[in-house]
Order: sequence, then C-alpha cells, then structure tokens
Amino acid sequence: MLTSVVSRLATTLTYPLRPSDFLAVVDPRHSSRQVRGVVTGVHRLADDVATVRFRPGRGWRTPRAGQWVRVGVEIDGVRRWRPFSLSSGEGEEPAVTVGAVGLVSGALVRDTRPGDLLFLDQPQGDFLLPPTPGPVLLIGAGTGLTPLRSMLRTLLARDPAADVTLLQLARSRADALFADELDALAARHPGLRLVRHLSGAAGRLDLATPGVLAALVPDWRARASYVCGPEGLVADAERLWAGA
Ligand SMILES: Cc1cc2nc3c(=O)[nH]c(=O)nc-3n(C[C@H](O)[C@H](O)[C@H](O)COP(=O)(O)OP(=O)(O)OC[C@H]3O[C@@H](n4cnc5c(N)ncnc54)[C@H](O)[C@@H]3O)c2cc1C
Repeated sequence: MLTSVVSRLATTLTYPLRPSDFLAVVDPRHSSRQVRGVVTGVHRLADDVATVRFRPGRGWRTPRAGQWVRVGVEIDGVRRWRPFSLSSGEGEEPAVTVGAVGLVSGALVRDTRPGDLLFLDQPQGDFLLPPTPGPVLLIGAGTGLTPLRSMLRTLLARDPAADVTLLQLARSRADALFADELDALAARHPGLRLVRHLSGAAGRLDLATPGVLAALVPDWRARASYVCGPEGLVADAERLWAGA
C-alpha cells in the first residue's frame, strides 16, 4: 500500500517521466513498458553467423525449448523488430543464433557487443516438446537448427540417455550450424544419433519421396518429429507425414 502511494506520488511529481524511467537509469534492463536484455556475449560461429547471449530484465517470462522471441534493434534511430528462435536450452542463459542475411540480422551478427541493450518481446510459439517425450526425431536445415538445438540441449539435460535422432541438412560441413558442438554431444550421449546429409556432395535430399527418410532414419515413424528449416523442407516433411 505504502509502495503504491509512493509510486503514484512519484509519478505526479516527475511527470512526464515515470519512476520506471529513473530506475532505467540505474538498471538499463528495467522498464515497465518494454522488456530489455543486456548482451552478455557474442560467439561467432562463422563469418556470417553468431550466437548472441543476453540477460533479460525483469518481466521476461522463462522461455520453453522451441520458442521464439521478437528482438528489437535500433538502427539509424529506428527500432526494427524480427523474430528469432531461442537456441539456448531451458535453464540456460537465453541466446539467439543469427545468420546475417539482411538489416537486423546483419546488425546483430556484426555490430552487437557485450553490454549492448536489446529490446525484447515475450517468448512465444507452440513448437514445443511434449512433457514426457519418447523417442524424438529432429530435422533441421540452416538456421532452422536453432530451436532444435534448444530442444536437444533441454532433452539431454533432463535425461542424458534420451533417445534422439537429429538429421541435419546442409550444403557442406562448413555450412552445418553447430557442427562441432553436435558432434561432441553425439560422442558423449549414446542415445543421440546424429545424421548429417551434405547436399553439396550427396545432392538434395527429397524428403517427400517415400523411402528417402527411411534410408537414413529407419524408425522415423516411431518418433515424435520436429522439422524446422526453409519452407520447401517443411512442406516436403508435411507431405511425407500426411501419407505415413
Ligand atoms: C518464427 C521465426 C523464427 C526465426 N528464427 C531465426 C533464427 O533463429 N535465426 C535466424 O537467423 N533467423 C531467424 N528467423 C528469420 C528472421 O526473423 C529474419 O527474417 C531474418 O534474420 C532476416 O531479417 P533481416 O532484417 O536481417 O533481413 P531484411 O532486411 O528484412 O531482408 C533483407 C533481404 O534478405 C532476404 N531474407 C530475409 N530472410 C532471409 C533468409 N532467412 N534467408 C535468406 N534471405 C533472407 C529478404 O528477402 C530480403 O531480400 C526467424 C523467423 C521466424 C518467422
């Protein structure tokens, strides 16, 4: 009660600024109107791909594996928003992994430094793991690997023996996002089977054609499956599962 009286009073006395604006001076992540995060690290995975870790301010809801967040970046005085999947596992410091393809992604990959502020919306999306998943199949290409990495790290943290097959599609090993990390995880976790299809050498994988996925993942029908990547890949997968 006392708090709310003081707060109302302060609001009157400091108009047009609100108490939250003064708190923002002390802690730049604090704002009652806009959640922000402070960048804590930028890890370059390739020339044009980086993972940006951040510490969100108060009011940000804990994300679940597979969710995405709209990130706002100020470029030439204009705040521009784009959605990015969280690549961090549940319970880890939040992170997005971004491929530089345009304005906002380019700014995040090339110009972001520890200590910078990001504007954030709440994590959202229903691309989520079931509460008690059985065998899981994750299929991803390009930056589509980001929510799958989040799911994989979450599953293995919950159960180091989790039964997971990850099918990664990439042009080459150099293009395969998180390749070293995924190899290391597969070496440590016998329940994780990593299948990598490199289209530069092996040609495009036509998921929609019956038998193609079965050749790589014979038990695919018995697995809860998650696919993320370019539209064509997702459409092919939908066709395959519709006919399964
Ligand atoms: C739910 C969701 C989750 C996403 N998660 C991620 C993620 O984890 N990591 C990530 O890097 N991106 C992710 N994206 C894409 C991201 O939101 C942006 O669309 C992307 O970064 C391009 O924004 P930009 O401002 O850099 O490019 P813009 O300046 O808006 O576009 C510049 C040019 O790039 C082209 N372009 C846009 N997107 C792509 C693309 N993906 N590949 C090639 N060319 C493109 C446009 O056609 C345009 O010509 C996600 C998108 C959605 C909808």
